[in-house]
Formats: sequence, C-alpha cells, structure tokens
Amino acid sequence: MLGPTVQTVRGPVAADALGMILPHEHIFINLLREYRANGLLDDPELMAAELARFAAAGGRTVVDCTTRELGRAPRRLAAMSERTGLHIVMGCGHYRNPYLDREAIDRLSVDALAQAIVDEVEHGVDGTGIRPGIIGEVGCDGPHIAAVEERTLRAAARAQIASGLTLTTHAARWPVGLPQLDLFAAEGVDPRRVVIGHCDMVPDPAYHLEIARRGAFVQFDTINGHVEHEIERRIRAVCALAAAGHLDQVLLSHDVCLASDLAASGSGGYGFIAAAFLPRLRAAGLSADDCRRLVEDNPRRALTGRPA
Ligand SMILES: [Zn+2]
Repeated sequence: MLGPTVQTVRGPVAADALGMILPHEHIFINLLREYRANGLLDDPELMAAELARFAAAGGRTVVDCTTRELGRAPRRLAAMSERTGLHIVMGCGHYRNPYLDREAIDRLSVDALAQAIVDEVEHGVDGTGIRPGIIGEVGCDGPHIAAVEERTLRAAARAQIASGLTLTTHAARWPVGLPQLDLFAAEGVDPRRVVIGHCDMVPDPAYHLEIARRGAFVQFDTINGHVEHEIERRIRAVCALAAAGHLDQVLLSHDVCLASDLAASGSGGYGFIAAAFLPRLRAAGLSADDCRRLVEDNPRRALTGRPA
C-alpha cells in the first residue's frame, strides 16, 4: 500500500479508503459499575443490526475507544468487522477512575506502563495479533487529573511518541481537556495528534476555542437524538468553531455506550449524525463540502496525523 495507512482490527487499511468515520464509539462495552443494566453492550446480533444503520447511511469506519477496563474484545471486534464490512479501529491504554486497577498500576513505572501499550501496538493484544490503531480513550473522571490518572495519561503520552498513534481522551462535564493538553505538552506530544473527547458535554464555547487554538482536535462526540435543545446547542458549537476558522479541527461522533443509546431503544444509534445531524448543519449554513470534511477528512487526519 502506498500512502498512509490506519491499523484496523483486520489489518492496515489505506487512509483514503476509510470513508465516513465515527471517531469515538463503543461496540462491546461493560459500564455496569456506573450504569447498572443499561451499561452493557454485549449482543453481537443486536450490535451488528445497529452498525448496519451506519453502513446503510454510507459509513465505512468506526473507532472503538473501549479499553481493557471496559471489556475490550479484539476477536469479537474482528468478527464484527468481517460481518458488517466496516473498518473497525481498536483502542488501548487505560480509561479513568474509578475503572483503573490502582493496585496494578501503582506497581509499574510510567515507562513500564507506556511500554505495555507500545507492546500491544507492535505485537497485538493478549496473543491475538490484533493491533490497536489509536490510544484511548484515556482520561479523567473529575474536574482535575487524579494522581493515578496522571500516571496513566503520562504513559499514554509516552506511548503516543513511541508508536506514532493518535491520543484520544475522555474529558466529560468539566473542562479537564486543558490540563490534559498541558500534561501532554510537558511530555512532548504534538497537540495535533491529540483528540479531546466529550467537548460537547462542556457547554462553554471559550473552552472549545482554547482547545482548537492550542492545535488539538475538538471532539463533539455525544451527539444523539435524545433532546432537541441539546442538538441545537451542538449545532451552534460546531458553527461557532467553523466561524472562528477551526472547522478542520472538529470531530463528530455519538459515543454509543449504553443500551439506551441504541436505535433499538428509540435513540439515534450509530446513524444519527449521517441521517439527521449533518442535514441540520447544512440548514444552519455549513456547505456540503464542510460536512464531508467533518466526517471524512478530519477524522482521517486525526487518525493518521497526515494533512492529506
Ligand atoms: Zn468517554
């Protein structure tokens, strides 16, 4: 293959074949400790039907940000990719409190934690040979970076530099993406290789603008059909960054992670952005080409780090 490639669960794929990309989703995930029965996605029949909606809307690639703590399942992802025809990019690294295995992490140096991530990138996960294509989602539970999270984030940063993979974060509800960027910068990570996640859960345009100004990707990734005024707020947030000249740093995804996020539950599922959100952005003044850049060019560049 000539040109840049992206590592998927079924091997490297040419970047220009990735098509429409969802940069932050989950396919099989266990969030039972926080969300009780709603927090388990485990049924391959159901999830294949959900993913088919994205494929039917023209989708080609799903980035699954599920880490080991969340029940990452390399072989099941590879089987799902084969079944649906979608490219699936798998994550690695450590998630956030309270999911982190503090005892295990405390026993290792930051460099050893980083090396374990790099080993997965180079050799595959748990003897499967299936390799991650992105580092994350890694992040913070609260408004600050907790001590154990500082170590796992530093490890992720060092693994980013060693492996060249992109770093994607969890920064929900509080503007903790900025201290995350400070930490990554101190480790020497190029902010253009960082995606700050869940920015739409922080309803502060100045926060979004500051992340973009620093050069990182601003990811609005909790886009679903639940609440009309929440959809409108996200449309305004995308348009505000576009008007400020930062359209190329905006990423869109749904973060499907609960049973209640699925189309089968009456929510938007994996197809909401393509079917409903992009038309709303057009109506708000973005061009068809702007929309294509948002769901094809930007996430492709986020994955490869290459301008084309
Ligand atoms: Zn998250």
